[in-house]
Amino acid sequence: MTLSSDAQSILRETFGLPAFRGAQAEIVVHLAEGGDALVLMPTGGGKSLCYQIPSLLRAGTGIVVSPLIALMEDQVAALTQLGVRAAVLNSTLSAAAARATEDALIRGELDLLYVAPERLTTPRCLDVLERAEIALFAIDEAHCVAQWGHDFRPEYLQLSILHERFPGVPRIALTATADPDTRAEIARRLGLAEARVFVSSFDRPNITYTIVEKLEPRQQLLRFIRREHQNEAGIVYCLSRKKVEETAAWLAAEGIAALPYHAGLDASLRSLHQSRFQREEGIVIVATIAFGMGIDKPDVRFVAHLDLPKSIEGYYQETGRAGRDGAPANAWMAYGLADVVQMRRLIDQSDAQDDFKRIASAKLDALLGLCETAQCRRVRLLQYFGEASSACGNCDNCLAPPETWDATEAAQKALSAIYRTGQRFGAVHLTEVLRGRDSERVRRFGHDALSVFGVGRDTDELVWRGVFRQLVALGLAHVDHEAHGALKLTEASRAVLKGYERVAMRRQVEAPLGRKARTGTTRAFGLDGAGEILLSHLKAWRLEEARLQSVPAYVILNDNTLAQLARERPQRRDELLGISGIGAKKLERYGAALLEILCRAPGKAR
Ligand code: ADP
Ligand code: ZN
Repeated sequence: MTLSSDAQSILRETFGLPAFRGAQAEIVVHLAEGGDALVLMPTGGGKSLCYQIPSLLRAGTGIVVSPLIALMEDQVAALTQLGVRAAVLNSTLSAAAARATEDALIRGELDLLYVAPERLTTPRCLDVLERAEIALFAIDEAHCVAQWGHDFRPEYLQLSILHERFPGVPRIALTATADPDTRAEIARRLGLAEARVFVSSFDRPNITYTIVEKLEPRQQLLRFIRREHQNEAGIVYCLSRKKVEETAAWLAAEGIAALPYHAGLDASLRSLHQSRFQREEGIVIVATIAFGMGIDKPDVRFVAHLDLPKSIEGYYQETGRAGRDGAPANAWMAYGLADVVQMRRLIDQSDAQDDFKRIASAKLDALLGLCETAQCRRVRLLQYFGEASSACGNCDNCLAPPETWDATEAAQKALSAIYRTGQRFGAVHLTEVLRGRDSERVRRFGHDALSVFGVGRDTDELVWRGVFRQLVALGLAHVDHEAHGALKLTEASRAVLKGYERVAMRRQVEAPLGRKARTGTTRAFGLDGAGEILLSHLKAWRLEEARLQSVPAYVILNDNTLAQLARERPQRRDELLGISGIGAKKLERYGAALLEILCRAPGKAR
């Protein structure tokens, strides 16, 4: 038997999965043969198997370093379900329990041991490791070693000690952070310069990207949740704590199981909300970006942004929390001119150095480009990470291509309005002037006497709103915060004003939701009516089982597995083994219960 066929049979029999994904097979063999690896794979790409299977193939115990306590515990619960001998060492254990785990390690009774970084580097823990046989070290979330990154963990800097104390043990560092600087810093700080680097595509094909114009954001969000994600888990991101609380309360009043999460909440309440989100089904968490790092829930079906993220990296990381299990998921964002103004203000008014402000501003521009593009969102997103691709067929722009219009004349009118009013007013006032509104404010400044007064009467207010937003996003106008968000001309405005350059804009449309028959995730799973009913029975059974064992539902069987069961309705034990996610142990544990539900359901035509 070769290593690779051994790896295959563990994948099939223990994990119940039919085939490796992407570079997994190569990584597993490389590590099992004793090589070091640096793995860059997107969230949900399947990083865990890359160290779990080599740990089973090699003699001794695989030691996994992870900063996420909740994640460690859930992974151990999931592995235990599969019959893998796994344990965790972290600060939540009593001294006696920790000691028992250490003894089990030394006796060689563990396949995998998850350890918190601050614990691993203590002299005591290193001594215990020296008395045990170690299969490999896996350093998860390896970007935590990057000092300028937002997830920096000082304990991670100590991890270079592993290489010094255990030079013969293979190491694998894993991260979903793509940029080259972080990658280089990981390799340097962890002594992995010689390691083989595996870079996966950063595409998340199961995520549908949608960016809508912000009109009545709460209503739009509610419609989106009701139409596509009834009783499904999701995350809603807002910029401020206040907005988090208000949005959560409002959603709750509308009957959505929504909970707030931000750094200002009482610690116990925060962890209660986090654990309810992690363990219960169908909870929507409304959060600031403080929420995310500790979250490893694979069945988050949507991520919604009510405010702009700071950059494409931020957007990618936050939306990446949807659909880690590979099942269909939505990334939905509502965005408007006010967001652009707000983000610019945050940058301009921060105390940061000019360099930093310039970078932050360029990153915001790139994000606005993504928001305004009429082309495939995914192509744009991947391009930003240096990856070429073609139109995806699974984003709003692909599913319902937006029209663009020649907005040159409208842009000229808008820019002249900015100029004629002395570059001292915001979009609301400028729109009043263009539309020829005879308001007190317009009269007070004498703007009803200007040549631009009323020249845009025939154009809808909503269209003007879009024009101003796109002018700013395209760099044709600039928001000045020193002057209360007044719009000013830029270098680039001149060419448009003089008619040297034409401007194309996206036509404003009602939120794409419902414009075309978009699919909710249930339909995306390919289920008919009977299949949906069966799926709900399976979910009810899973929930009960998860409660009995006090583990999260997906640890029992994940959404993909339940959907495949509901679609194919296997009627015999050997057919169950053909379902992705059902291996020997799960068949033994749940086979009978599943067959009872499946055989009771009206059989599919065979
Ligand atoms: P990551 O750590 O990269 O975010 P995980 O290791 O948690 O991702 O895997 C994400 C999901 O993908 C899990 O539900 C896992 O069971 C599933 N998965 C991983 N590898 C495979 C595979 N080869 N075939 C099917 N499902 C897989
Ligand atoms: Zn697309």
